[in-house]
Amino acid sequence: MKILFKNANILDVEKGELFLGNVVVSNDIISYVGCALPKENFDEIIDCNQNILMPGFVDAHCHSPMTILRGVGDDTSLSTWLYDNIIPLENKLTPQDIYWGEKLAVLEYLANGITTVEECYFDNDQIIKALSQSGLRARVGFGPSTRKENKDLNKFLSQQLGLFTNVDNTLIKPCVYVHSIYSSTYDDIEKCVDFSAKNNLPMSIHLCETLEEVGNCTVQNGGLTPPQYLESLGFFDRNSLCYHCVHMDKDDLQILADYNASICTCPSSNIKLASGIAPVYAMQNKSINITIGTDGVASNNSLDMFKEMFLVATLSKVSICDASVIKAKDVLKMATKNGAKALGFDSGEIAVGKKADIILVDIHKPHMYPHDNLISHLVYSAKSSDVMLTMCNGEILYRDGKYINEDTQLIYKKVNEIRERLKNEYK
Ligand SMILES: [Zn+2]
Repeated sequence: MKILFKNANILDVEKGELFLGNVVVSNDIISYVGCALPKENFDEIIDCNQNILMPGFVDAHCHSPMTILRGVGDDTSLSTWLYDNIIPLENKLTPQDIYWGEKLAVLEYLANGITTVEECYFDNDQIIKALSQSGLRARVGFGPSTRKENKDLNKFLSQQLGLFTNVDNTLIKPCVYVHSIYSSTYDDIEKCVDFSAKNNLPMSIHLCETLEEVGNCTVQNGGLTPPQYLESLGFFDRNSLCYHCVHMDKDDLQILADYNASICTCPSSNIKLASGIAPVYAMQNKSINITIGTDGVASNNSLDMFKEMFLVATLSKVSICDASVIKAKDVLKMATKNGAKALGFDSGEIAVGKKADIILVDIHKPHMYPHDNLISHLVYSAKSSDVMLTMCNGEILYRDGKYINEDTQLIYKKVNEIRERLKNEYK
């Protein structure tokens, strides 16, 4: 399959610039990027009408099936939200619920131009099934969670890794996911580190999300901050990705920098749960690979990387009262190329040889005019509804408001039925 995208404003995420040109996708790979119009035969020619052709977004932290829990416990304290609402409901979710929640998330990802996600939830067999049907790219985490007691963790880890045996690993890959320091014992984290080393797997964790987490870790572990504690366990010896990192000082950030760990900032979740504002400017100063995530819908409440980009930029500015501290082009790179790098995928940019994860963004709307600073518009003006086309791995999955592989009416019906069943289970 050979597709030509012609007459496009192509985003170069490395330079943070747009240029008018053409892109050829041959099967799953970008095979040509340039100003000259290729003269070959194509299966399809798409005239982009000077709209923006850019890499699909990488949502580097999500709990996708939580779409089922959208709006639950909103406007309550973090502890009421989590312990009286979210966890009791999660305990009622069946594997089928997880499957339909993942399917609903897929619809949102595709419509919003997200082509790659990092998944951390339960019932990974269902998540992998829904993702495999979707055509999206994903890294799926497994490990000790807040939900199920894994009596024999080593057995559980091996069994989870087995779920990936017959999966296309250019699209779906495993990682070892430790939910957090506060929900896992020292022994369990150590077992995960050993398992990850033995199987050459990357690691992920929620880290320094709240002040309470940092305080408790420091008190309980002889003054060690969460990053120092993890360093003592060898956690960062593996390729690692740390979500949130809201409450880190420069010494903590230095540890992550020293080990080439990546950070995923999740601004909507952090401000909605009143956790704080991540020190993105300080992370940039340490040259840490910063990525962006939505976190689960229960704490966001949408899977929208345009919203996250706006917040990463604006919260970084207001947190140190300096509007020049971060540029729109930096944020675009975080939401695309940096995410792909952190998750270990050869995608995230429009360049020859890269996997063809591409979206088309409409610039012919009032909020995108005038056109002389479209890079800025992408971060500060554009909306998810501006996404006209979403392609992952060379396959067009969403176009002009229509899903190619998904039955939206069935998914909506199923998630409404699930929520109806659960409605008496939360406050
Ligand atoms: Zn999370």
